[in-house]
Amino acid sequence: MKILDGKKIFSDIKSELKKEVSNLKKNNLKSPHLAAVLIGNNPASLTYVNAKVRACKEIGFGSTVITLPQEISQTDLLKEIDELNNSKKIDGIIVQLPIPSHIDENTVIHRISYKKDVDGFHPINLGRMVLGLPCFLPATPFGIITLIEKYNIQTLGQKCLVIGRSNIVGTPISILMSRNKNFGNCTVTLAHSKTKNLKSLSLDSDIIIVAIGSPHFLKKEMVKKSAVVIDVGIHRIPSELKRSGFELIGDVHTDVSDLASYMTPVPGGVGPMTIASLLKNTLYSAKKVIY
Ligand code: NAD
Repeated sequence: MKILDGKKIFSDIKSELKKEVSNLKKNNLKSPHLAAVLIGNNPASLTYVNAKVRACKEIGFGSTVITLPQEISQTDLLKEIDELNNSKKIDGIIVQLPIPSHIDENTVIHRISYKKDVDGFHPINLGRMVLGLPCFLPATPFGIITLIEKYNIQTLGQKCLVIGRSNIVGTPISILMSRNKNFGNCTVTLAHSKTKNLKSLSLDSDIIIVAIGSPHFLKKEMVKKSAVVIDVGIHRIPSELKRSGFELIGDVHTDVSDLASYMTPVPGGVGPMTIASLLKNTLYSAKKVIY
């Protein structure tokens, strides 16, 4: 089994982006700038935002974190987003999910200008993605296809099973895997909580992408030999063995590695690729490649 090493590809992409930043500077253009909105004090969200800011610093992007209290009203949050939308300094805006339950997630996502929507969640970007038009691809699916491409994994004509139909991962990756471009051309099945006979579907699949948020859900007996397995899930499990007091595990059981030809680790697989995509989208925004 070969590891799909998201950490290594992330490092390669950061080196490429660093060069892009120095080219922009040589031409007296400003560095791309990412704004991250963090609401409340969810430790996982803080870790994710810190990782994104650290990556920005490493490659010479500017970054701004707007930390807001858990009890902020939706109206005040939307005002903050409007300011970022109107700021000439800011190229990309993300609002770290999850957001408090008294705020409507869709209203917030739709308020971010689609021109600065570097997470690729806005309906205009998703609609353009479906039509194959220039857009900010949703960060996690963008990271997954980049990883598969970097390892030259054949997708044309392959049977791909996506488990999970969220708007940010499952549904968009099912579209990207099936589209008729250089990459894609899979025959895709999108499975979800109402799917029957999931095991027979997964046993018949060449590529399996799991994004359901259920620890170690996909097990060895559900996978055929040589399948490519992409694990999107991230779970913090208490662990006395780790200094941090927790370890990260995915939606895929580690025993799947006995059968898979390629597999993403957790951590170090899809997670870093999501940040890589966010940075690429921020660069595209700064360069006005997508408008
Ligand atoms: P979500 O909770 O929004 O959606 C889960 C989906 O899984 C739903 O469509 C549901 O129908 C489906 N599902 C649930 N139980 C199922 C079952 N038993 N069989 C089949 N389908 C089932 O999930 P999400 O936001 O896509 O996140 C999924 C996981 O991926 C989470 O662990 C999340 O933390 C992680 N995630 C990781 C990254 C990353 O960068 N690595 C990014 C986004 C999400």
